[in-house]
Amino acid sequence: MAGGDLIFMGPPGSGKGTQVRLLKDAHGWEHLSTGDLFRGHLRLGTPLGRLAEEHMSQGHYVPDEVTVGMVNERLGRIPRSRRIVFDGFPRTVAQATALDKLLGDHGRSLGCVIVLEVPSKDLLSRLSARGRSSERSDDSPEVIGKRLAVYEQQTRPVVEHYQKAGLLKRIDGVGDVDQIRQRVEQAIA
Ligand code: ADP
Repeated sequence: MAGGDLIFMGPPGSGKGTQVRLLKDAHGWEHLSTGDLFRGHLRLGTPLGRLAEEHMSQGHYVPDEVTVGMVNERLGRIPRSRRIVFDGFPRTVAQATALDKLLGDHGRSLGCVIVLEVPSKDLLSRLSARGRSSERSDDSPEVIGKRLAVYEQQTRPVVEHYQKAGLLKRIDGVGDVDQIRQRVEQAIA
């Protein structure tokens, strides 16, 4: 990958969060996670945080215009020279289309899109294990099933979108953290 920003995709429980953190620590990239931004708003008790929580706690996505508006605002504060790793965005085809425009508006471009592939039976067991120790309202067993279904319905088409654009790299997300980290590094080298 010569340059440009990176999108990191993967279903809930795929280990996306862990790999994105390793990547940003190793390369000093800017981490833009819409889930973290929503949770930040929630902690501060902003109207955006309250609105997001209504959707998040049900396992639903926050409406596209709200999410895109928040990303646009964030992009305005990141220097153009700094590479971004997008985490959890875009999650719908409408968001992907909006991002193309936003990147252009902010003088940026996309280098590649990584998707971590993990079989659904593994996702369920990983998420149930995390749910027992998590304080997130969306890690309960009922909501986990919903989040996986929403990913398949709304986010899988985004993977196809980037496949068609020739930007996609699929990574096997089964293995230990370091093995997967090495696969990611190879994919972006
Ligand atoms: P995970 O990847 O484990 O599902 P995230 O922290 O990325 O967790 O997202 C948690 C929740 O935040 C999602 O289930 C959704 O409700 C909301 N969310 C995050 N990113 C987006 C987005 N791009 N569009 C809509 N909703 C989002």
